[in-house]
Amino acid sequence: MILTAGPCSAESFEQLYSTAQALLPLNIDYFRAGLWKPRTRPSSFEGVKDKGLDWMVRIQKDLKLKICTEIASADMADKCAEYNFDAVWIGARTTQNPFTTEDIARALEGTNMCVMVKNPLNPDVKLWLGAVERLEKHGIKKIMAVHRGFSLSYNKYKQSPLWRIPLEFKRLRQDIPIICDPSHIAGDRMYVGQLAHDAVAIGFDGLMVETHISPDSALTDAKQQITPEQLTELIGSIPSVTDNHKGYDTLLAALRKQIDDIDDVLIGALKDRMDISKKIALIKKQNNMRIFQPERWQEVVKNVTNLAEDKDLDGDFVKEIYGIIHQESVKTQNVIINKSEFL
Ligand code: PEP
Ligand code: MN
Repeated sequence: MILTAGPCSAESFEQLYSTAQALLPLNIDYFRAGLWKPRTRPSSFEGVKDKGLDWMVRIQKDLKLKICTEIASADMADKCAEYNFDAVWIGARTTQNPFTTEDIARALEGTNMCVMVKNPLNPDVKLWLGAVERLEKHGIKKIMAVHRGFSLSYNKYKQSPLWRIPLEFKRLRQDIPIICDPSHIAGDRMYVGQLAHDAVAIGFDGLMVETHISPDSALTDAKQQITPEQLTELIGSIPSVTDNHKGYDTLLAALRKQIDDIDDVLIGALKDRMDISKKIALIKKQNNMRIFQPERWQEVVKNVTNLAEDKDLDGDFVKEIYGIIHQESVKTQNVIINKSEFL
């Protein structure tokens, strides 16, 4: 498992050094600390900036740790290269912007640093892949993806994990290791452990965990950081996982065959449903009816959620799927009735 740990921000040499020292027994792969901090408001602590470069290099030399920090411009990339950083990460706000990622990729050309690419704030897997492709275009070989959650706050975490997005990333780029940053998803240390367990169980290749020698006094992200001791305990509690299924090969293959058969039926049923929806469109057209009938939609939602409940399926899950199915129906009917392709 790839493990990156260290404070959200470098605050002082003592804070950095004592945190790094306490992390030594864990054999971490990279020691992280933000030098230039992207903050929502300029009045917040914006990092120790260039002053921290020497501090990080001392940690690299004295403690034999690989060091990494966040870069958000070509200038920061140049500085990290000049100081021989082992790795850098591109933050969520930067991945968002193709102009900046292109500038950074150009600046990193010819360096040997590992580049960790955090997902963009909005759940757009193409933007994330695009940032990776820009780096590759400039010859960067060592690349990792970091899942740090998305800015849609409709759950208990600070950021929504939306696991399907990193899983889609992994499907498309199986050659790139993907690690999870449970700290920025959680926003609160009480959820960090569970999210880390979930990520490893799902199949992530590692973790990036914000770790501070005294989290409560941290200048940034104080609520979500944990101590090196807590990280040691957390890592020790994670059961190891493997892709090895020897002994269960036949059973697994049989179950997967069943899943494939069910998918065949599901897709067939969707096609039949859509064909009926097209027939309904013709009736609506002949009668100049509105496409969207709220009472009918209300009836469908009620019906499918009741069916789901009877079968012990999650009602919200079924509602979400039907939201998409219904939208596709409305779209198809709009093509027939209104001759519009644009809904
Ligand atoms: C960080 O890792 O400290 C950080 C600011 O990351 P993100 O870009 O994911 O917010
Ligand atoms: Mn942080």
